[in-house]
Amino acid sequence: MNLFETVKSAVTVKQAAEYYGCKVNRGDMVCCPFHDDQHPSMKLNRDYFYCFGCGATGDVIDFVARLFGLSSYEAAKKLAYDFGIDPDKPPAAMALKKPYPLARAFRNDEIYCQRVLCDYLHLLEHWKIEYAPQSPEDELDDRFVEASQMIDYVEYLLDILMFAELEQRVKAVDMLLNDGTIAALERRLKRLEKEVQHRGEERAIA
Ligand SMILES: [Zn+2]
Repeated sequence: MNLFETVKSAVTVKQAAEYYGCKVNRGDMVCCPFHDDQHPSMKLNRDYFYCFGCGATGDVIDFVARLFGLSSYEAAKKLAYDFGIDPDKPPAAMALKKPYPLARAFRNDEIYCQRVLCDYLHLLEHWKIEYAPQSPEDELDDRFVEASQMIDYVEYLLDILMFAELEQRVKAVDMLLNDGTIAALERRLKRLEKEVQHRGEERAIA
């Protein structure tokens, strides 16, 4: 079995959704992380998910790829890592192995940092295109400048948080939480989101 098959046979969509912080209700429904979903409209089956609100669908690897903005291969690697899957062993042999032995608190902190940084990265990628100068005489938009300066660094941080050795990841999470980076970023992202919504409403009225 290749990495994709191994991961898919070892981890259900529901397990992954729970692990990465989605609240799964008794009917195996969750609030869709891929659109602004107030009531659970995504159904989690064993092998695939389907959102009745936005039509998002796919397998467990698609789910994680989209959740964290990763390629399919990166998502498969992340799942293998987070669920302690050894790609060289058949799933049955590791069924009894616990997901990796980290304290739950650290795991939550780590996922929190990953989510905030992913949101920020997506915003920067959007800005880099949306606010790119149209001609050489154009004054550079602040958002374009920020995107140009920050994308590499945010990608680097995410790389550490997702794929580095445990010791390095613990250090990175400590740094990001203790110096207030993540908290400040989260507040800013929420504020920006509100501004965008507000502008949308004004436009709708006008
Ligand atoms: Zn949806």
